[in-house]
Amino acid sequence: MNAGLQSPPAVENRPVLTLLIAAPRGFCAGVDRAIEIVERALERYGAPVYVRHEIVHNRFVVEGLEAKGAIFVEELYEVPDGAPVVFSAHGVPKSVPAEAERRELYYLDATCPLVSKVHRQAERQLEKGRHIVFVGHAGHPEVVGTMGQVPDGTMTLVETVDDVAALPFESDTPLAFLTQTTLSVDDTADIVAALQARYPDIEGPKGEDICYATSNRQTAVKQIAPASDLVLVIGAPNSSNSVRLVEVAERCGTNARLIQRASDIQPEWLEGIGTIGLTAGASAPEVLVREVVDRLAEFRTIEERTIESAVEKMVFKLPRQLAD
Ligand code: SF4
Repeated sequence: MNAGLQSPPAVENRPVLTLLIAAPRGFCAGVDRAIEIVERALERYGAPVYVRHEIVHNRFVVEGLEAKGAIFVEELYEVPDGAPVVFSAHGVPKSVPAEAERRELYYLDATCPLVSKVHRQAERQLEKGRHIVFVGHAGHPEVVGTMGQVPDGTMTLVETVDDVAALPFESDTPLAFLTQTTLSVDDTADIVAALQARYPDIEGPKGEDICYATSNRQTAVKQIAPASDLVLVIGAPNSSNSVRLVEVAERCGTNARLIQRASDIQPEWLEGIGTIGLTAGASAPEVLVREVVDRLAEFRTIEERTIESAVEKMVFKLPRQLAD
């Protein structure tokens, strides 16, 4: 154990640390809704309720739901016959509800409505006879889910501007593009610009499909990073929007670290640091932000300021089965 952890300085000897806390941060409407779906399903159907994949990418949230009786699995075959199952906020390929129906499983879909919107756009573009170029990160569950909305071979994934240059299509091929909801706003703008330059007739959403929560959190981190010596982002390594926040802070020229819990903070990180920027990805609850503030207060006298760049009022309806 680190010596600093064992003996924090006496209160009167703690130098001031300015904390710039980004707003908005943390939970988005899609995450709120997904967690509420699992909680209401537990109340209504009793434990256990199965959840396919981490409902949102946060261990604290997952463990809290496990304690209430949720069982997390990766695939549907792990769900016993007759048990209710919830699909995670990231969305699932069409084959998953189809298999649930074949097995007559009772399922609830916690896919974020903003991800479902991209799924519907994919279907519409396919009906118009367009091949879809999807901008996203290979292997992320949202990407697997969106690519699984259309038949194999009708959607091509690109991750970078170089991938756009390597696409095999002629410039007059009927194409459409869609994007993952949790990408870097700046990187995606570059990729979309490259697509539009190479394929002038490509169709797409206005701008991209990056959701309001992802883009608001990136804007908020840009407000705090330039004035910070270090930015801490609370989030999981498999949380796309959290990892993007670290990148955005770094692009402002500021050191940034992704942390899952306050206990990840090492006292030596604070050496020579006068201002810390703090934010949280869309799947990280506010309680973890307060935990980090308390942890930092063990070493420093905290002067806390919230830097607000937007106010969010988005709320999504629950699925019909749970709405009353
Ligand atoms: S980050 Fe965006 S797309 Fe993902 S759950 Fe939240 S609101 Fe929905």
